[in-house]
Amino acid sequence: MDLTFNARELAFRDELRAWFAEHDPGEEPLHDEDLHYAWRRDFQRRLAESGWAAVHWPREYGGRGATLTESAIFFEELGRSGAPLPANVLGLLLAGPTIMTWGTPAQKERYLGPILTAEEIWCQGFSEPDAGSDLASLKTRAVREDGGDWVLTGQKVWTSGAQYSKWCMLVARTDPEAPRHKGLTYFLMDMEQDGVQVRPLRQITGEREFNELFIDGARVPDEGVLGGVGNGWKVALTTLMNERAGLAFFLQVRLRQTLDRVIAEAAAEGLLEDPLVADRVGELHLKAEVLRLTAYRGLTAVEKYGQPGPEGSLTKWMWSDTNQQVTQFAAELFGPRALEAGGRWAYEVLRARGNSIEGGTTEVLKNIVAERVLGLPRAR
Ligand SMILES: Cc1cc2nc3c(=O)[nH]c(=O)nc-3n(C[C@H](O)[C@H](O)[C@H](O)COP(=O)(O)OP(=O)(O)OC[C@H]3O[C@@H](n4cnc5c(N)ncnc54)[C@H](O)[C@@H]3O)c2cc1C
Repeated sequence: MDLTFNARELAFRDELRAWFAEHDPGEEPLHDEDLHYAWRRDFQRRLAESGWAAVHWPREYGGRGATLTESAIFFEELGRSGAPLPANVLGLLLAGPTIMTWGTPAQKERYLGPILTAEEIWCQGFSEPDAGSDLASLKTRAVREDGGDWVLTGQKVWTSGAQYSKWCMLVARTDPEAPRHKGLTYFLMDMEQDGVQVRPLRQITGEREFNELFIDGARVPDEGVLGGVGNGWKVALTTLMNERAGLAFFLQVRLRQTLDRVIAEAAAEGLLEDPLVADRVGELHLKAEVLRLTAYRGLTAVEKYGQPGPEGSLTKWMWSDTNQQVTQFAAELFGPRALEAGGRWAYEVLRARGNSIEGGTTEVLKNIVAERVLGLPRAR
């Protein structure tokens, strides 16, 4: 693994840095979720205007055809600049690449452009009340009517950003008689219809980041099937592989920033003089560095083998563990002040609790690492 950037990568980074320096995202609106979302959406629009919204997308779809390393540089620089994660992150990282892999020319033509500009926001309707880690046990049904439309009925849950979304990438059961993984189909569902009700769920942070989705007779035309009837499991795996690979660099940079903030505040209060505090800072610094290097190692694997491997599970696990430790450390260090309602640290501490659940729980990731990286016997 070579960690130095070549001339092309350095030029890419410098151009990007200059762009971020010229395009200040403005002050982050902290206490109003809708305003915060509008701020992120606006910044994505500006990224798209300059061709930076999805550097990893091929040029023909409005991207820059960036290599994996350049993509990693993009997220590192985005994190470093303090700019927000694009509003349509699920569209850019999950729906777009899945449509590029499985979509018909007409589907690519229809859906990709508005993803890039944040004109049409996407959400991910995979999890259900009785199907999370074990996604293949999902129960939402889709039945094809004589006229050709599919009619969907069921419930999804934890659907992030559904309240802002025009489209939902959704997996439903189309053949209840087939083996679990075979009877599934992947749909691109229009959220703006009577058969879809979005009910926000309030999280421990007080935010309404995710929602329940009640689907009662929602209609999807046959053109909204992605990758063929009965092929939903394979199409969903494309989405899930992109989910873990895409965010690793952004998250490790944000973790580094959080840790640097803890260190700066601790230094300002003279707390670093305490050897126990210094020892803990050293340990967390080491973990953040190991995470950064492991993310690069995962990148090398993708460059060699052409697709994200199970190593992505290791970085996701390490990131959630370390982020929870860093925010917990801040709470211990700054005491009650860090836990004031509406305060930045209180938000970070509480939001970090979900890190070990979202995008695959730590227990499930450990199983993947044990079985597919270490070659240990299967749990079941
Ligand atoms: C902030 C946040 C945002 C989310 N956004 C979305 C979204 O936009 N779209 C979407 O579809 N989903 C979303 N999710 C849902 C997320 O994908 C699920 O919560 C996750 O997959 C776990 O499923 P579950 O909650 O049903 O837990 P379960 O799968 O029921 O797990 C319960 C517990 O059992 C453990 N467990 C389960 N199976 C095993 C096993 N085989 N071995 C060992 N332990 C096991 C788990 O680790 C966990 O501790 C989001 C979740 C969070 C927290």
